[in-house]
Amino acid sequence: MGDPVEHATGLEKRELMAKVAGNENPFDLKVIKRGPGTKDKPNEIPSAFDARLVGCICEEESTSVNWMWLYKGQPRRCECGHWFNLVHKAPV
Ligand SMILES: [Zn+2]
Repeated sequence: MGDPVEHATGLEKRELMAKVAGNENPFDLKVIKRGPGTKDKPNEIPSAFDARLVGCICEEESTSVNWMWLYKGQPRRCECGHWFNLVHKAPV
């Protein structure tokens, strides 16, 4: 048996991923409007944790989301070329 995340699809996967991320509210995975997303001006992703899952909608018309883990202090580039950077946000 592999990782159950590998076998889940669609919404199920989204909820599972949110749980893996330790996020009680899956709908906190809201879409953040992307800025320039360059290496110098990455999209800032607020998180109260040292790591969080980020979903990039690489093309506006695309219905699929490209999920990736983002770690504090490690800006990350999506396959589509957009950069993301985790910025610390205190828990509410
Ligand atoms: Zn992307």
